[in-house]
Amino acid sequence: MIDTKSVFKIPFGLFVLTAKDGDKDNGCIINTAMQLTSKPQRISITVNKANYTHDMIMKTGLFNVSVLTESTPFGIFEHFGFQSGKDADKFAQGEGERSSNGLMYVPWNTNALMSGKVIETVDCGTHTLFVADVTEAKVLSDAPSVTYDYYQKNIKPRPEPAKKKGWVCKICGYVYEGDPLPADFICPICKHPAEDFELVK
Ligand code: FE
Repeated sequence: MIDTKSVFKIPFGLFVLTAKDGDKDNGCIINTAMQLTSKPQRISITVNKANYTHDMIMKTGLFNVSVLTESTPFGIFEHFGFQSGKDADKFAQGEGERSSNGLMYVPWNTNALMSGKVIETVDCGTHTLFVADVTEAKVLSDAPSVTYDYYQKNIKPRPEPAKKKGWVCKICGYVYEGDPLPADFICPICKHPAEDFELVK
């Protein structure tokens, strides 16, 4: 027999995977990124073929992996994971910064950036495995990386009977608890002003 729950015993991280095709920036959430070798520094990622980011990496051979931390608000997973780049511009409001390969990465709620240049692809059916040389890598903070397990237990919202009023930063997902939001409020995470917040529905 194959108990499909067994794979959840493997620790997975959560990452923002970004790519760029011409003027179009895009990103999605993946849970499979890992080091393959250290000399040379190589990583692999596995991406669902249904993701627009997948097609962009197939075409350009370049991607960035931003390693998310336990501080990542649910809004970031919604922003990058629950909508398609075919319909939305996920970097329309300055949600990232550029690394030296010209691609976006997410500098907030992340602890590391790795830029990859694809050297091999493996067709895995629903997904493609990309093997890549690391062309740039930097540590952004010492905050612990979020695991899929931590996300399920601590970040993913549970149904709440009475929800507090609050404002969420559209840029980084920080939530200000209370209403109204002070007009001169500055997001403590990404430093964007009150205009970039919207009322939590
Ligand atoms: Fe913010």
